[in-house]
Amino acid sequence: MENTPAANFLQTIVAQDLAQGRVAQVVTRFPPEPNGYLHIGHAKSISVNFGLAETFGGRCNLRFDDTNPEKESQEFIEAIQQDVRWLGYTWDGEVRFASAYFQQLYNWAVYLVEQGHAYVCDLTAEQAREYRGTLTEPGSNSPFRDRPVQENLDLLAGMKAGDFDEGEKVLRAKIDMAAPNMNLRDPILYRIRKVSHHQTGNDWVIYPTYDFAHGQEDAIEAVTHSICTLEFEDHRPLYDWFIEHLPLTSRPHQYEFGGLNLSYTITSKRKLKQLVDEGVVSGWDDPRMPTVSGMRRRGYTPAAIRKFCDMIGTTRGEGVVDVAMLEFAIREDLNENAPRAMCVLDPLKLVLTDYPQGQVEELTVPAHPSREELGQRIVPFTRELYIDRDDFREAANKKYKRLVLGKRVRLRNGYVIEADEVVKDDQDNILAVHAHTIPNTVGNDPEDGIKPKGVIHWVSATEGVQATVRVYDRLFNQESPGVGDGDFMKQINPESLHVVEQAWIEPSLARAVPEQNFQFEREGYFVADRYDYNAEKPVFNKTIGLRDTWNN
Ligand code: ATP
Ligand code: MG
Repeated sequence: MENTPAANFLQTIVAQDLAQGRVAQVVTRFPPEPNGYLHIGHAKSISVNFGLAETFGGRCNLRFDDTNPEKESQEFIEAIQQDVRWLGYTWDGEVRFASAYFQQLYNWAVYLVEQGHAYVCDLTAEQAREYRGTLTEPGSNSPFRDRPVQENLDLLAGMKAGDFDEGEKVLRAKIDMAAPNMNLRDPILYRIRKVSHHQTGNDWVIYPTYDFAHGQEDAIEAVTHSICTLEFEDHRPLYDWFIEHLPLTSRPHQYEFGGLNLSYTITSKRKLKQLVDEGVVSGWDDPRMPTVSGMRRRGYTPAAIRKFCDMIGTTRGEGVVDVAMLEFAIREDLNENAPRAMCVLDPLKLVLTDYPQGQVEELTVPAHPSREELGQRIVPFTRELYIDRDDFREAANKKYKRLVLGKRVRLRNGYVIEADEVVKDDQDNILAVHAHTIPNTVGNDPEDGIKPKGVIHWVSATEGVQATVRVYDRLFNQESPGVGDGDFMKQINPESLHVVEQAWIEPSLARAVPEQNFQFEREGYFVADRYDYNAEKPVFNKTIGLRDTWNN
């Protein structure tokens, strides 16, 4: 898989603008609307915007695009800031709010009215739709289009003062009702909305539209490169129209790139909110969610997410990225950096009948097979151990390289053992396996030359600790959830969460810290849960398996 930074056409544009002196310093912004948590698509946008500023010695602002107060909240504002910081980025100065510019935006609206470029329109929403025309037919002028400037100024002031009801009037730009680009057919600048705002309280009863707000906010902040996704390409002429018709001191430009779509994943805040609201997941930060906070809780690292965003490149294409690439990025990071430890998920008792009762042998084991600097851990070896139920069979063919009755296996980092008998209950269920150790085999092959074929992991039954392990899988079992006729709510993978209440972990894992990543040997990568992990009741979340087994 591609492992070096991929193409990024925006870097080329910025480099040229700097080289040719069109801009002195690149200024970008990440402009989330605080109406949900950030997801992997936003992480891509963050990586693009902050990445350009980092690469070219510029600045990147964090600006809340809070022009739709109904769906926004302080909870989202805080979560978004936390996520951006966690990803490792620092915005320039204080966090910014579109709402802080409401007065300036209003003054500019008045300016457009004075210049004869905007008017108050009384058409109902339905009438306005009829006047708007279609993609193939031009629209027609509103009967209110030629109101005198003073009347418009008075009506706009009345809208602001709360003299009219919602929907009764809007402020529109006077551009061209026959423009082939529908966005230029006298677009709305202000709507009446009698709702209080999380930042400005009841100061305003009119709110600007995205189109009227965004470019001007960029200009206020002296943003040079305003980067958005492709669906805004048709809005660019309008973005430019406002910039050209207003007395601005700075001239931002909009650039579009193909936003991230990921297989088996939903990147729509509305749909993610539905999963939360309907209790399909435990919250926005459920480890199965493609939100930044969900991935964080799942054990993804900022480095892996940033790496993934670089790997997929930044282009004007609109493809779907295979989620296996994201999984590759986290696996690669954790393989390199996560300490190893042992955890038995489906415990079967193993009794070493020749090993003295009460004896504890402290095995010193490296934390990582190839990185000495990560140190060592002590793993206690005792007479009674747990191994995974799947690692024992009474009889098996040669392909099975684990423990078989009468055969040998190596206990990882410990002794070679040989299985002697099974203990069963009346229903023929295996309760325990009895075995004996082969002397002097810690770190050595058996002296009799009969080498074991496999290695299995284990935990001391007397020194180990019980843990809860949440094993996650993909949330959707469809490659393109919700696409076509599919209802994404009906495409949920019923096996996406499996909780193991009684796993056994080696003692060192009871001294982890929340959010610490591990490789549980032979099982996969796991993380100590950010909220629920503690030494008395360790809780781990499965991040990802050791290899991609999904398509097999
Ligand atoms: P909404 O449907 O609520 O508008 P949104 O995902 O566009 O959702 P914003 O808060 O407006 O939400 O997004 C903030 C920034 O993130 C925008 O600049 C947007 O273009 C970018 N962004 C959103 N989704 C993606 C995506 N899938 N890939 C890349 N960038 C994205
Ligand atoms: Mg948006």
